[in-house]
Amino acid sequence: MPHEPADLSPSTVAVTAGRPARTQGGPLNPPLVLSSTYISTGVPGPDELLYARAGTETWQPFEEALAALEGARLPGLVFGSGMAAIAAAFSLVPVGGRVVMPRHSYQVTLGYAQELTARSGVDVVLVDIDDTAAVLAELAAAPTSMLWVESPTNPMLEVADLPALVAGAHAAGALIAVDNTFATPLGQRPLSMGADLVVHSVTKYLAGHSDVVLGAVLTDDDALHARVLAHRTLHGAIAGPFEVWLALRGLRTLALRVERSQATAAELARRLVGHPDVLEVRHPSLPGDPGHERAARLMNGFGSIIGVRPRGGADAADAVTRAVRLWAPATSLGGVESTLERRRRFATESLTVPEDLLRLSVGIEDVEDVWRDLDQALRASRAAVPAEEPAGDLAGA
Ligand SMILES: *Cc1c(COP(=O)(O)O)cnc(C)c1O
Repeated sequence: MPHEPADLSPSTVAVTAGRPARTQGGPLNPPLVLSSTYISTGVPGPDELLYARAGTETWQPFEEALAALEGARLPGLVFGSGMAAIAAAFSLVPVGGRVVMPRHSYQVTLGYAQELTARSGVDVVLVDIDDTAAVLAELAAAPTSMLWVESPTNPMLEVADLPALVAGAHAAGALIAVDNTFATPLGQRPLSMGADLVVHSVTKYLAGHSDVVLGAVLTDDDALHARVLAHRTLHGAIAGPFEVWLALRGLRTLALRVERSQATAAELARRLVGHPDVLEVRHPSLPGDPGHERAARLMNGFGSIIGVRPRGGADAADAVTRAVRLWAPATSLGGVESTLERRRRFATESLTVPEDLLRLSVGIEDVEDVWRDLDQALRASRAAVPAEEPAGDLAGA
């Protein structure tokens, strides 16, 4: 390696990390190797590849690159999905343990926590993660195994005071794990703030092209790393080499994609505030946004997810998803394509998420093109709203 990652800016690290050693005639990129098993005689050495559930040469460069980006000493641990990574992190919570987590965590993470309650008697306490005093009070209220943090949250975009929560969790003897999917390691590096674990849905920004489902766990604690690695091998929720190879290819352009989509998101948010068919806009870049001050202080950039509530409620929101032509009406986020969806169409979404909330994931298309399409779709949504009846007219009809 020509430089230590510590000398390089993260946008460069995304390009340089996880390359093969430079040898005459050797490949610039790590090769994709499709093999379930490896030649082996006698007693295998500790780092020897043996069987692809335990490790592959296609995972290693990606795991090194993730670690370099998150500022971790130990390699990342790639999983077959973000949820597999999250399940591995939650495996550190003992039977009968206690977890404090955001009310507006990713809905499937909330579902998994409920399952832990049913199966393992884990006490799950939901908090508003941006209300630092409330989170600290819950940590002090009873012995806690883990504080789970998402910041910004999916889909409400609440921003947590990570340094304060790290200090609070550790004072309470709890592990603190951060789902860093929305921020990306370019936006914040929780391990460097003292968090014990970071998890990613690699599916989103890291891979970035809406073509793979993958996850990852990072930790700099040797004992936790060994436990999460053992969980992966025992439970077998592993990634396919081809998906990981694609994710590393996607990671190379992470900085460009994030820079572009964040800039476009901030511009769209600014324009949406004044739009006649919009009731409310949430984006941490907006000076009036509840997460603005904290994101400006703690994060590098404001992300490219926007929350929009059209005037006219859930019907109008649904109408927007039918009227868009460039934006793709689809779930998921963090791809090069701009996508949007009404979150409460899922019965499992948190009931405190407004019925009419559209979650926009801004891609890398031209800002004027995405604006024009969004503008026309919002205007078209007006037709879906029943016209207000003039007072007194038609009464009793
Ligand atoms: C999508 C998502 C997940 C789940 O990841 P999968 O790769 O879909 O399993 C977890 N957390 C957040 C914040 C997400 O957006």
